Amino acid sequence: MRHLSQQELADLLNRPVFHLISEVADSLGMECYVVGGYVRDLFLERPSKDIDVVVVGSGIELARAVASRIGKRAHLSVFKNFGTAQVKINRDNEEVELEFVGARRESYSHDSRKPIVEDGTLEDDQNRRDFTINAMAVCLNRERFGELVDPFDGVWDLEDRIIATPLDPDMTFSDDPLRMMRCIRFATQLNFEIEEETFNALNRNRDRIKIISQERITDELQKIMSSDSPGRGIELLFSCGLLELIFPELYALHGTESVGGRSHKDNLWHTLEVLGNVVKAGAPLWLRWAALLHDIGKPRTKRWEASAGWTFHNHNSVGAKMVPQIFRRMKLPTDERMKYVEKLVALHMRPIVIADEEVTDSAVRRLLFEAGDDIDDLMTLCEADITTKNNDRKQRFLDNFRLVRLKLVDLEERDRIRNFQPPVSGEEIMESFHLPPSKPVGIIKEAIKDAILDGIIPNEHDAAFAFAVTKAAELGISID
Ligand code: ATP
Ligand code: MG
Repeated sequence: MRHLSQQELADLLNRPVFHLISEVADSLGMECYVVGGYVRDLFLERPSKDIDVVVVGSGIELARAVASRIGKRAHLSVFKNFGTAQVKINRDNEEVELEFVGARRESYSHDSRKPIVEDGTLEDDQNRRDFTINAMAVCLNRERFGELVDPFDGVWDLEDRIIATPLDPDMTFSDDPLRMMRCIRFATQLNFEIEEETFNALNRNRDRIKIISQERITDELQKIMSSDSPGRGIELLFSCGLLELIFPELYALHGTESVGGRSHKDNLWHTLEVLGNVVKAGAPLWLRWAALLHDIGKPRTKRWEASAGWTFHNHNSVGAKMVPQIFRRMKLPTDERMKYVEKLVALHMRPIVIADEEVTDSAVRRLLFEAGDDIDDLMTLCEADITTKNNDRKQRFLDNFRLVRLKLVDLEERDRIRNFQPPVSGEEIMESFHLPPSKPVGIIKEAIKDAILDGIIPNEHDAAFAFAVTKAAELGISID
């Protein structure tokens, strides 16, 4: 991170939009600053979309004046209740979003994150911000253009890669507990450390998270999940005590137990390792979720069996059933994205079982049939799931997976199983065998499917029909 002089900041702000705001503010005699995330990202050389502007006076008034100077390329929205206004500018297909707010002082009551707001100075406004690195302001007025106002030494925290609150962290977090999620989100996104007192305050104030809506919590969690190292974010949530409150099912994966000196692995650390592995493999968001939840059924299925040791029988299907409950509670989308995660959790043991035994055509065909288009993601998840420290064992699994992948390609070419459509339909069976919709129709259809998946007949109409005739005869049904 580079420190920037006033001249360097002025150069970085040398964009028409900032000069325009500067002129308009000067003409209205208003002190005004660009503040928060945009300033932070200038120093970090990160791209930043939205620009926050704080005005000593009325943010709405300045926004109106700026919008009217720009004319029809500007779209103004005023939020009277919040005392803020937004100006969206469209230029050469690039959209700039400006957020104007009057400098304010905030005071909070215990049961709400909605503060009582009064007009204030720039200093008041900086005091109410969440972190030192988010509280820096750069003046836009012509006389002081590019001057940094940084009362909490945010630049030094940027340099030291530290997240710390500007004031007493207990106050900052208790006033608006969403800041606790933001704290971990920024530490994760920026790969910063959380300053010790700030971290301790997370732990002390964690129960306050209860007044935050699920949508907002989930929003931050999704930003953590989309970052370069989501596992670190989950680990931070765990260590400050928030994970237990916002994600009890995941928290329950933590810990080991032993009987007669035999213990099972800690499934939370295993899960985070798997998550890290899929991220390394380039996984998009929902495959990351599948990794996060793949073993979620383990705590509920854990048994000690004298003959077998620790077992988690059926944890994949128990886990898959938990997915919709978790998605609903977390207000995550309950559409095909949820179905995808559910399916991957349900199937995540299958390739391992195949790879552990002889890799038969029939087993691979069935896998392909059930996974459909998600087969590649499933294979990525399964390879990521091999976290054994025993290198021989690891290598054996990976070799077998390579074999499974080769067979998948080969069988798909031959049999087109991926999006399997039965070559003989229910209607054709009913018509040919003069059957009403009834159980035998289902039995015959299922038998055709099994015969194809087991490689007894090819995935073709005539072969399947001939097979249906034989099967029907076994049931005492004839074709004429
Ligand atoms: P990003 O846009 O990358 O998420 P950001 O820092 O710009 O990061 P925003 O949510 O856009 O975050 O908020 C803009 C600024 O408003 C922040 O930098 C911070 O100064 C302030 N801010 C936002 N939310 C809070 C909050 N809950 N408490 C205190 N200050 C906040
Ligand atoms: Mg922002």
